[in-house]
Amino acid sequence: MIFRYILVLLVSIFAISMLRSVIGLIMKAFGEMVGPHLAKAAPTSAGKPQPSPPAPPTGELKKDPVCGTYVPAATAISKRSGGQTLYFCSTNCRDKYSG
Ligand SMILES: [Zn+2]
Repeated sequence: MIFRYILVLLVSIFAISMLRSVIGLIMKAFGEMVGPHLAKAAPTSAGKPQPSPPAPPTGELKKDPVCGTYVPAATAISKRSGGQTLYFCSTNCRDKYSG
């Protein structure tokens, strides 16, 4: 009987789509339940907060006011002028700024 076959087919399609949506909901609920729980359960290192290491001075970039190049403060040619420190990429730029 062809109608019986079609009915079985439709029921299977319906059942599969229902199952998929139910599994999707379960997975979503499971993820929401487990997500924060796992984050809380994560082991804390040594129990005390570890201070983040200060950024190395070489990481700080200063702008050369003469040529506009950004140079690391640690390796730049520095010059104190009017209460502020200026940084230059080279002595050439520093001399240009002075003169
Ligand atoms: Zn320069």
